[in-house]
Amino acid sequence: MDKYLVFGNPISQSKSPFIHTLFARQTGQEMTYESQQPEPDGFVAAATAFFNSGGRGCNVTAPFKEDAFAFATRLTERAQLAGAVNTLKKLDDGEIVGDNTDGEGLVQDLLQNQVELKGKRVLLVGAGGAARGVLQPLLAQNPQQVVVTNRTEAKAEQLATLFSAHGPVTHIAMEELAKPEFDIIINSTSAGLSGQLPALPTTIIKREMTCYDMVYSAQVTAFNQWSIDNGAGKTLDGLGMLVGQAAESFMLWRGIRPGAKQVLRELRRLLQQ
Ligand code: NDP
Repeated sequence: MDKYLVFGNPISQSKSPFIHTLFARQTGQEMTYESQQPEPDGFVAAATAFFNSGGRGCNVTAPFKEDAFAFATRLTERAQLAGAVNTLKKLDDGEIVGDNTDGEGLVQDLLQNQVELKGKRVLLVGAGGAARGVLQPLLAQNPQQVVVTNRTEAKAEQLATLFSAHGPVTHIAMEELAKPEFDIIINSTSAGLSGQLPALPTTIIKREMTCYDMVYSAQVTAFNQWSIDNGAGKTLDGLGMLVGQAAESFMLWRGIRPGAKQVLRELRRLLQQ
């Protein structure tokens, strides 16, 4: 049996073992997938022990994505740009490849929900690790423009500068937002985890837009409820992104693309129990 797992701290709530076990069953792959919680400073030791004992690959979640970035002996371009790694794979020659599949997971989830990015105006709210991880895959879809806004404006400016060679990306101060000029708003802030909302004006919402919250929950998320209350026609939460990034990792490890739809349905059911 080929061994995979997810590293994180905390990890008990992780949905990754559930998702990958279903992927493996669906595609007939002989593999195990578990979870492990290293101490905050224990990632390198834990990952080294895992790969030395025959581990083939792993997912990495908070707070270890930067540790995994440093641990990899080779990086994909999107991981380099993201500055963080959520997937490691051991090659036959012993090299450890680091990838970041979060952004592609988001893009695939949007596309599967009939939300095209090509030619669209996208507002990306937040400028933390998640925002950085999705910018290159978003820009690769040829949007008309991606505008980054963040509570701490300087971080939005830094991100826009960092990715300016990869497509039309700029930044705006939150208090300058006013008009309903975007087709898609992506909330990549962690505000919702504490029941808060980013300080966006309601005037940016229009019916013909999609609001996407990277946070997910059994109920409608705070940001999506705010979007609906102010007239947005379509809302999506980050559960599809979670399944999408997992599908990309699985593809990297096993060379076979699992179907996300059925797994997403089962995960939603699990979340609502
Ligand atoms: P970071 O800590 O790196 O960044 C947090 C971001 O949220 C910053 O831009 C921060 O602004 C902003 N923020 C936090 N609280 C507030 C608030 N009260 N009001 C406005 N802005 C706020 O976190 P990540 O970028 O790594 O993760 C962000 C979210 O994305 C998390 O909730 C995470 O769960 C989710 N996520 C979901 C994934 C999925 O698969 N669905 C994958 C990856 C992440 P400031 O710079 O001003 O502090």
